[in-house]
Amino acid sequence: MNTKISLKSLMALFLIMGITAGLTAFFGYFSAKPMTIDVNTLKKRTNLIPVAIIGSGPAGLTSGIYGARSGIPTYIFEGNKPGGLLTETTEVENWPGETLILGPDLINKMHQQAQDLGVTFVADTIESIDTSQWPYMLTLESGVQVHALSVIIATGATPRRLGIPGESEYWGYGVTTCAVCDAPFRKGQDVIVIGGGDSAVEEAIQLAPHARTVTIMVRKDHMRAAARMQDRLRGYNNIKIRFNVDVKEVIGEQVEGQFGPIKRVTAVRVYDNKTNEEFIMNDIRGVFLAIGHIPNSQLFCEHIECDDNGYIKPQGRSQKTSLRGIFVAGDVADHVYRQAITSAGFGCMAMLDAAAFLGDIEFTDQLAEDIEAQMYYPETLGESTVLQPRTMQELKHIIAESKKPVIVDFYGDLCPSCLQMLPVYNRVAGEMADEAIFVKVNVDEAEDIVKHFNVLTVPCIMAITDGKPQKPAYRTMRRKELMSFVEAASSQQK
Ligand code: NDP
Repeated sequence: MNTKISLKSLMALFLIMGITAGLTAFFGYFSAKPMTIDVNTLKKRTNLIPVAIIGSGPAGLTSGIYGARSGIPTYIFEGNKPGGLLTETTEVENWPGETLILGPDLINKMHQQAQDLGVTFVADTIESIDTSQWPYMLTLESGVQVHALSVIIATGATPRRLGIPGESEYWGYGVTTCAVCDAPFRKGQDVIVIGGGDSAVEEAIQLAPHARTVTIMVRKDHMRAAARMQDRLRGYNNIKIRFNVDVKEVIGEQVEGQFGPIKRVTAVRVYDNKTNEEFIMNDIRGVFLAIGHIPNSQLFCEHIECDDNGYIKPQGRSQKTSLRGIFVAGDVADHVYRQAITSAGFGCMAMLDAAAFLGDIEFTDQLAEDIEAQMYYPETLGESTVLQPRTMQELKHIIAESKKPVIVDFYGDLCPSCLQMLPVYNRVAGEMADEAIFVKVNVDEAEDIVKHFNVLTVPCIMAITDGKPQKPAYRTMRRKELMSFVEAASSQQK
């Protein structure tokens, strides 16, 4: 009897606790932060931002366009990968109104539109966010701290890696996720693309005009890519597809190069999951990964609700997150649709939600005017002088004339990571003009320079100290890393 009563009371207790927890969560969402704007408080702050958009892919740019059009001072923090993943695609034929357009051209048009409407672009990356105070405090890579009344997270996703032996060792030496970057370096070679989605098809098509053979390695007995994308493969005799295969290892070797031993891929070890047989594919020089993406949400998941896979969870049919005043748009919250057009749609929704939030907290045009002096005005750097030699003779002349180290950035017109690196490079060139001479070389236009230095892939950053080339770095660098690279070169110069 006693047990019965205590069970009942226990159940009632749980029910009450459940309801209380639910109500707390419900009201907590709306009252977690002190959201009344006190103009006087804001007047004491500096570096204020009404809407901070983090990320500059289709989601972030569309948010920017909607924000600027509605007269809200709108800032886009471009991040490490300005333009996002769309800069890595070639032909886009499903953007309404554009029968056929290149991904980078589409993103450039959006960027231009946002800029013309008055969006402030900041060539910086958010390093941390403090949500324990409002306005939310964002710390930038440059060390600057800004205070955002509202935030739209549009940080996108990053290509996934396989995690197999040899992948890290040969990363940049044949293993990559960027076909447009590496295709010109794979002339006449045999390469593989791993994955069965639209990206795998894209990569294979980008590689086919350069490589001798391209084999798409699909783990299932069918491809996930859209039928129309698969149809595009038919036009290429040198593209093959192998089904039911798992690539288990990247194999390579070291060969003597101009700056000492360099690595290169030579083969892959493959497991046929239908026959249970393992075999080696020899003479493979390039391994291109196209196996999906992981959301760029690492900075945020300790503050706002994310799902088990790290995707930020929008609340209901909105782009609100679990924290009031913070919104989300694009691939960082979407593992289902993942299209440029849906990202743009979510970007529009996020800005409409952010504008409604600013309305709720009575952020008016008058208030915007009152706090104009407290707004964030990004530092504008003077024009940096980056030289662009087209021949080895021109570059030799620059090296001979210079008493400082010469830093060379090799880039390709179609290489997204190179194009993303250029603003960082220009910025550091402006900041460190006293320490080095900065040079950029377009690998498509200056073949003799590329041959002279035996450049294997782009992006490639090389320091020339006392007239001698040093071992190059085959990767994109963030501002701080590039600054350390220049400082190291400067300290080597006699
Ligand atoms: P998807 O997630 O669509 O496809 C990933 C592919 O990689 C799948 O075939 C998957 O296999 C395979 N894969 C995943 N993990 C592994 C692994 N460990 N080993 C081997 N294979 C693996 O990603 P995508 O990047 O291709 O596409 C993302 C989105 O972008 C899609 O919505 C796509 O439509 C869009 N997109 C559109 C383009 C265009 O329209 N031009 C171009 C490129 C992308 P499985 O099928 O077995 O899961």
